[in-house]
Amino acid sequence: MEQLETGNGDSKKGALSYTLFWLSAVLILVAIVSLTAFGLWRERPKPIPVERGDLSGTIADIVDAMPGRGSGGYQRPSLEEAAEFGALASAMRTDELEKAGRFAAALDYTLVRYDDVPTGRSFVVAREEADATREPERGWGTIVVDPGGDDVLVEVPHPVFDIKTPMVGVEVFRETGASVLLVAGAHRYSWDDKRSDVAHAPQTAFDAAHEALLPARFVVQPHGFHSDEEDQYPEVVLSGGVAPAPPEVQAVYRGLEDEGADVGLFDGGSRFEDLAGTTNIQGASTRKSGGAFLHVELAQNLRDDEAERSEFARALASALARASRAEE
Ligand SMILES: [Zn+2]
Repeated sequence: MEQLETGNGDSKKGALSYTLFWLSAVLILVAIVSLTAFGLWRERPKPIPVERGDLSGTIADIVDAMPGRGSGGYQRPSLEEAAEFGALASAMRTDELEKAGRFAAALDYTLVRYDDVPTGRSFVVAREEADATREPERGWGTIVVDPGGDDVLVEVPHPVFDIKTPMVGVEVFRETGASVLLVAGAHRYSWDDKRSDVAHAPQTAFDAAHEALLPARFVVQPHGFHSDEEDQYPEVVLSGGVAPAPPEVQAVYRGLEDEGADVGLFDGGSRFEDLAGTTNIQGASTRKSGGAFLHVELAQNLRDDEAERSEFARALASALARASRAEE
């Protein structure tokens, strides 16, 4: 009897330690799984907000809020800020969104994934945080990236002043399937000393982004010329920024002509020299990096008309595609 009782006691103890063993094993397992999950959660890049809209409307709103002529509403970035703006553009271009998010946060910029409803395409947009009641304080500009886009940059250096060129830029960006649309953030004459003229002034955020995105096969810059000059000029004046016109620029010119565009080419001499963009600093750096710079001056009637803007963008897209094929 005694033996039996002892035996019973031992088997109770055995059952208890058996339960404790499994209980602690389960607890340890739960702890490991939770810690791993927490670690993964912390490592995981935070998703960036998603917006839906029509890119041309979004860009038009941004342009409407920009610092105007003589407003002084543009701040020259420090060298470090300009470099960070370049790094932001570069990280967006390589689709490193977590990295881009860190640069955007450091610069007080908003980074969003942007679903462009009219084209059904998804872009990444970085824009200055702006209070709805006031102008952007720095006027550095907006970056739109299609990470899967072609080796083409579309740059709008003179929004507001070159009327409707941001709308031309959006159309050209969409039609050519370019990888980047860069729009300056202030009127070129926000200051009398022209520090916000990003096509000529040193140390702008716009130029830092442009430099960081090079090399590119084509850099397209739409500009606008004044209506009283239009009598002697075609609707489109194309220039590579140098004379003679580089072969790729000549190829794009022939492509535009074949598409039926009313286009002239700067090829040295005085003809179109005033519209040739020969002092444009993005032109100089693009050529130096081995790409073709396309300085495109557009008459006001073309810029003002939505259908004409689209037609021009389609013609340019087809001319670029042909010039690229000819190169290969
Ligand atoms: Zn211009």
